[in-house]
Amino acid sequence: MKSRSGRTATAAPAFGRDVQLFMTTLNEFSRCVAQYDPHALPVSAAQAIVRQWATPVTAIERVPLRDALDRVLAADIVSPIDVPSHDNSAMDGYAFNRAALASNASAVELAIVGKALAGHPFAGRVEAATQCVRVMTGASMPADCDTVVPQELVERAADAASIHFAANAVAAGANRRRAGEDLARGHAALRAGRIMRASDLGLLASLGIGEVNVRRRLRVAFFSTGDELRSLGEPLDPGSVYDSNRYTLFAMLRRLNMDTLDLGVVRDEPAALKAALRSAAASADVVLTSGGVSVGEADFTKQLLQTFGDVAFWNLAMRPGRPLAFGRVWSGERPGLGLPALFFGLPGNPVAVMVTFYQIVREALLLMSGATPQPLPVIHAASRQAIRKRAGRTEFQRGVAARDAQGQWHVTPTGSQSSGVLSSMSEANCFIVLGHDEGDIAEGERVAIMLFDGLI
Ligand code: AMP
Ligand code: MG
Repeated sequence: MKSRSGRTATAAPAFGRDVQLFMTTLNEFSRCVAQYDPHALPVSAAQAIVRQWATPVTAIERVPLRDALDRVLAADIVSPIDVPSHDNSAMDGYAFNRAALASNASAVELAIVGKALAGHPFAGRVEAATQCVRVMTGASMPADCDTVVPQELVERAADAASIHFAANAVAAGANRRRAGEDLARGHAALRAGRIMRASDLGLLASLGIGEVNVRRRLRVAFFSTGDELRSLGEPLDPGSVYDSNRYTLFAMLRRLNMDTLDLGVVRDEPAALKAALRSAAASADVVLTSGGVSVGEADFTKQLLQTFGDVAFWNLAMRPGRPLAFGRVWSGERPGLGLPALFFGLPGNPVAVMVTFYQIVREALLLMSGATPQPLPVIHAASRQAIRKRAGRTEFQRGVAARDAQGQWHVTPTGSQSSGVLSSMSEANCFIVLGHDEGDIAEGERVAIMLFDGLI
């Protein structure tokens, strides 16, 4: 059954139709993963399970080139032309036939018989070994010429009618850009699954392509749970806090170019939660919630989803971000009825929301968008401080990394590493990634870091 905008109500084969089948999948998985433990699931195991469930959207939209920025390319782009379309000069200088020079020639003297500018080719012929053409960068290579000698390397005769230069000043073929050297006709210029960046828009323009097929954007609904949460504009009565997770989630989703749907704050009350989940599943591909997934008395998300969804609850071997729910919810009255949505119940603590989003949710969203996610770059830096770390879980500490005068990377953990201290994320410019098996880190020891900012 197909719904509007290409959502499919029937599940991909890997999806369980009920809790039982999902548990089977988990059990099967557990046999394949070393150190599998549902009470302390390694991050890599959680990522592997989530990856299995992330089915790409199929609907395709045709958009003008500018609107393709940050969208996911739906099909390979095969170059319809050579770029550049003709051999041309890479320098301002003089084009001549280098191959025709005598092999023992030392000084070369050539008469200038014409001029070629970018967009204004030289139409005449050039006599080998005696003539040349004045050329500017980008000008088509005149017929009979194979090489450009840059103007800095020649001396012009007083009457400006000829040049001379040392024969060894340029090798044959120098300063000549070949037709198709950027993009060859008939070859894949960009692959399906690519998230379109600035260079890609330019590249398609260089092929004369003004419209492109992209996957439809993934629609992601999110809401916060908690009786203590107040929305912006509401007074902050005693014991309450402003809801920050919805803003963090909104921003992280926007950076991934998701189509976002903010469903506000939902009270810690099963009926309200159920209604919110159903309406989220009705209109989105993915539902993200924060809070209510640990074991406190008001953590109703867990109780509700055990009966209402097809959801696994995990304690991840990860800090921050230990409790996490993952699975599917439906828009209908019972699991399996109506439209499905992938579900992530994130912890409530603001830093844990960000860490679980980047480490667990991000890749699933990209896969579901039809993208081919690239692993996040990790570099190594010397820690300026000793760091306490317990083996048996992956930690994502917040750090400030910088390069010293010798170009070596160093990193300093931000003061508080509490998962409630969101200012540590604003202060930091990287995660310090302390691997599952790693223990305490000594001052000066190298640690892996993931920088927040990239160039492109
Ligand atoms: P919970 O997981 O619901 O037990 O929440 C853990 C902690 O995170 C509590 O201190 C909550 O007040 C806090 N918290 C939960 N949701 C939010 C939110 N949306 N914005 C800010 N803090 C939150
Ligand atoms: Mg709560």
